[in-house]
Amino acid sequence: MTAQLIDGTAIAQAVRDEVAAEVAKLIKEHNVAPGLATVLVGENPASKAYVGSKQRACDELGMHSVGHKLPEDASQEKVEGLVKQLNADPSVHGILVQLPLPGHLDEEKILGAISLEKDVDGFHPLNIGRLSMKGREPWFVPCTPAGCIELLVRSGVKIEGAEAVVLGRSNIVGLPVSMLLLHRNATMTICHSRSQDLPGICRRADILIAAVGRTEMVKGDWIKPGAAVIDVGINQKWIAHAADREWTCDATGETFVAHREDESGKGGRRKMGVYCPDCDQVYLKDHVPEDCQCEGLISLFRKYELVGDVDFDEVKEVAGYLTPVPGGVGPMTIAMLMQNTLRGAKHALGLV
Ligand code: NAP
Repeated sequence: MTAQLIDGTAIAQAVRDEVAAEVAKLIKEHNVAPGLATVLVGENPASKAYVGSKQRACDELGMHSVGHKLPEDASQEKVEGLVKQLNADPSVHGILVQLPLPGHLDEEKILGAISLEKDVDGFHPLNIGRLSMKGREPWFVPCTPAGCIELLVRSGVKIEGAEAVVLGRSNIVGLPVSMLLLHRNATMTICHSRSQDLPGICRRADILIAAVGRTEMVKGDWIKPGAAVIDVGINQKWIAHAADREWTCDATGETFVAHREDESGKGGRRKMGVYCPDCDQVYLKDHVPEDCQCEGLISLFRKYELVGDVDFDEVKEVAGYLTPVPGGVGPMTIAMLMQNTLRGAKHALGLV
């Protein structure tokens, strides 16, 4: 069997088009543009990039966005004060505090300070609580889990009555996506790092959601033939530059490519290592043999590609549906955030 690919980029675009049409209607009929406020604390490059793409999405869909930046050492009071100010601002319909926050901040308190009606990330404890209770509806559903469900629904995968297995129980993906599947009447199994016999459990799944952050962990023989597999993982898989000299670290078995510092334009991630002219060998910094006299650090580069938690090449031969990485769940997260922000604005206008 060759799985039908679930095209997250196309489905996300369809969601965005629908949201853009509703935004235009809201502006025309009520003269209100949905507004998203982002709060970025510190200089984490990945967080900056995520916040930037969320703001760009707002622009594209006709929404209004305002970005707040606070320094890395911002106090708890400062961040909570900003959140409260945004809670009171009628032009803001959604507040997104970009995670992770610097270690000195109390994330739970900050997320708990966001008004329920503006919690577009869906991480407020009351929203998560409602999500976990039968017969209750949260104001907002966390975006990545909501995106997983949207991919299944729009691909025609039947959830009700299905046996569903979720790998991972994190607050941001595994737990909420399990609750969403339960709400839609799947029979749920949630696995985690202490679960026994993962392959055996996964083989029961009509729907398998992998959210563990482990490179290509889910293999073809873990999959029930015809199952729908949603791969949430985003992992860096190291690959060597084809044309360069490769080295393998005996201690770790890792293969990498060594360059001098001034060749850093080659790209990829940097690790520090040591070149020993006597052995004509490169060692990773912490794995230099004790009897080796080499000294002087050089930069070691390895390129990477993004892969999921699922071994795509193996699983596509067994599954009925499969999301690729990239281009699967990833694009859905921002699309669902835009949908949540629109919902926040409609709520403020008394339309939902
Ligand atoms: P996380 O907070 O690190 O949680 C990982 C979960 O997987 C934990 O519940 C952990 O179990 C479990 N786990 C780890 N290793 C395992 C193993 N060998 N066997 C079974 N369970 C294992 O990660 P996360 O934030 O949920 O993210 C998961 C992945 O999704 C990451 O690759 C992340 O980059 C990706 N992600 C993608 C998006 C997107 O938009 N596409 C959004 C968010 C996250 P314990 O609870 O026992 O530790």
